[in-house]
Amino acid sequence: MKKSTPLKILFASSEVAPFAKTGGLADVSGSLPAALASLGHKVVIVMPLYRSVMEGPYELNSIEGALEVPYRGRVLKDKVFYSELEPNLSVYFVRKNEFFDRSMLYSTPEGDYFDNADRFIYFSRGILNLSKLIGFKPDIIHCNDWQTSLVPSYLKSLYMYDAFFEGVRIILTIHNLAYQGIFPPEYMAVSGLPSEFYSLNGFEYYGQMNFLKGGIVFADIITTVSEKYASEIQTPEFGYGLEGILKERSSDVHGVLNGADYREWNPETDSNIIANYNEKSLSGKERCKKDLIKAFKLKGPEKAPLIGIVSRLATQKGFDILAEAVGTLVDLGFLIVLLGTGDEIYEKQFAEIGKKHKGRFGVKIAFDNALAHKIEAGADMFLMPSRYEPCGLNQMYSLKYGTIPVVRATGGLDDTIKEFDTKTGNGNGFKFAEYSSQALIEEMKKAREVYRSQELWLKLVKNGMKEDFSWERSARTYERIYHNALARR
Ligand code: ADP
Repeated sequence: MKKSTPLKILFASSEVAPFAKTGGLADVSGSLPAALASLGHKVVIVMPLYRSVMEGPYELNSIEGALEVPYRGRVLKDKVFYSELEPNLSVYFVRKNEFFDRSMLYSTPEGDYFDNADRFIYFSRGILNLSKLIGFKPDIIHCNDWQTSLVPSYLKSLYMYDAFFEGVRIILTIHNLAYQGIFPPEYMAVSGLPSEFYSLNGFEYYGQMNFLKGGIVFADIITTVSEKYASEIQTPEFGYGLEGILKERSSDVHGVLNGADYREWNPETDSNIIANYNEKSLSGKERCKKDLIKAFKLKGPEKAPLIGIVSRLATQKGFDILAEAVGTLVDLGFLIVLLGTGDEIYEKQFAEIGKKHKGRFGVKIAFDNALAHKIEAGADMFLMPSRYEPCGLNQMYSLKYGTIPVVRATGGLDDTIKEFDTKTGNGNGFKFAEYSSQALIEEMKKAREVYRSQELWLKLVKNGMKEDFSWERSARTYERIYHNALARR
């Protein structure tokens, strides 16, 4: 395959799998840099040194010298750690224990950490100084979400005339526009950014400082994680108040679908599941279903269609319509398992619903990666009734595991799932358009009909397992975007 000119890419992210993860951002930050490195680019990932990294099974080395970060009128110094992942790929960890040595990344069930603005101002400033400290002069700095959204504006102010960063182009990827990092305006001064950046065409947002907005204004290119979401976020319904500024930059906004990391999500090699299987031999999947039924102590017949759900418990994910639908789904003969953590209100509500439908609806309130794999393998269908979904990864994992996605047609779910057509045998899942429990139930009934025909179901399962959402394709698209950005120098 043709290789493009190798680039030096600094990839900045607040979470990177396997080191620290709350959701899809970590999956992307773990996989995309690796895919770029295998295309021949040199990639340095930068993330905070969280407690989970210090306590994890990782070999960390420290570098000579200290990272200096100006912060609230002082210059703080601290050590930097790193780990070589592959020949062209390493990850550097910014240490500041008072900010990052905590049990969670951004919030506890009681709410966000009070000093998130300080934590990510510090981190963003640290990213650029770290790059200089290790002598990694990037062609591209690729930022992700609000936590690293100050980097573009630092480069266009405090570091504007720094020869080290001459010619660098900055990409900002929005993984979820609903999280913008909005803080009191006093944080402008804390950030050290020029006060004139606090304007309608900068960070100002209804009297507050909006980190993501500043990122969108000052980045050279903005990407988001599916084509559908790229157009959705330019509308009032999905734009969360930033649709105007995104529309203004429309020609620089691109949708690039995430990939699935098949090194981690592949039923043929997955060590978290009781039996491995592939498209040609599916008997392992039956054993996985039995194992899952046992894990959740379900009592329904093994032949009943089993729905899996793995998700953050957040309004975005459609838990209000799911709560309304569960009773009917159980009456229709479905078994359901749900693994999730998140908003307290949903944690309580679903623990209750689980008790009510004991034996038919298994609920586990936890973050459990091994169990997430078991659900992907053991369920017959995977339900994602999201209100909105920038990309969604679980539907792609599900396809690989022969677990049929039933999704709401929004964002990346709409881009990746094609309704199964019983006549032609084309399609890879089921999707409904209207955001309502009724529409969800009707779609589940369609899925159940197909499930009843062994022949049709097998065809559908195989269609899904043949799909290829590997990272290489996405990495090549990013590569093109980087080169186009550099060509505009
Ligand atoms: P989002 O980033 O919005 O949470 P994605 O579908 O992009 O949604 O990614 C979610 C990732 O987090 C998937 O890898 C999924 O398996 C994982 N995940 C979510 N909740 C849990 C949980 N409770 N336990 C284990 N993994 C989870």
